[in-house]
Amino acid sequence: MLERLRYGAHMPTSKGIHNVPKETREIGGNAFQIFNHSPRSWKVKELEEAVVGRFRRAMDENGIDLDSAFVHSGYLVNLAGPKEDIWRKSIDLLVEEVELTHKLGLKYVNIHPGSHLGDGERKGIERIVRALEEVLERTRDLGVMILLENVSPKGGNIGYKLEQLKEIMDLLGSDRIGLTYDTCHGFDAGYDITTKDGVRKLLHEIDSLFGLDKLKMIHLNDSKYPLGVPKDRHENIGKGFIGREGFKTFLEFEQIRSVPLILETPGSNLEHAEDLEVLKDILKEIGVI
Ligand code: ZN
Ligand code: MN
Ligand code: MN
Repeated sequence: MLERLRYGAHMPTSKGIHNVPKETREIGGNAFQIFNHSPRSWKVKELEEAVVGRFRRAMDENGIDLDSAFVHSGYLVNLAGPKEDIWRKSIDLLVEEVELTHKLGLKYVNIHPGSHLGDGERKGIERIVRALEEVLERTRDLGVMILLENVSPKGGNIGYKLEQLKEIMDLLGSDRIGLTYDTCHGFDAGYDITTKDGVRKLLHEIDSLFGLDKLKMIHLNDSKYPLGVPKDRHENIGKGFIGREGFKTFLEFEQIRSVPLILETPGSNLEHAEDLEVLKDILKEIGVI
């Protein structure tokens, strides 16, 4: 059985974005996610041409394909909130992030849809849609896809139910919107991937709402809290309430394994290398590597 499995982690860029492809290989991965600017800042620092060139070469040299490399939007972006100035700044920042992603030669920017901050889901969804319409319009020639990530049901977050993401996608009607499934956030929201039936249900839901081909990335995170407890506390693979057996059940489904699996677990490269070892052990047990 020959399958191309893709896995990796959210990578630090402290040694320069151009080092990420090599560091990805060093921790045992072949896929990654990054921030493409400081995620706690409203300012996007332009990347030097030389760094961009080195990054693109490093992608080739390390054999990382463009469907296995993702940018995560910064922490400040909130497309759903009632504060006009933050909403406006969020749109402008996301546009810059998409432009920088294009410059790096990458194809995907992952976002959390946003929090309505108490103003209600309806208004929140409307704002997200208006914001994304503008972002898509201003970046229409760049060929970058925006991935909506399912989130934890807390703090006014929109997008903890797949139906909410579906509604946003339908209202946008753009083929430049895709889906990321985060296992910790999903577990918080009651999607139980520790049983075969639960995974079947989830896959059926994704397929019937979006089509499985819209699922571009999985954030593979264990959860520090039990099913349905909306804390958004990620745990290392096998150490949380999804657990090693839970991930084994999840990964037994080919439709799941065929999507790039990106860790956002606690720690940095060292811990991610360990998590990838656990993941590979599970995949060996399943018999696919
Ligand atoms: Zn996220
Ligand atoms: Mn995530
Ligand atoms: Mn999270």
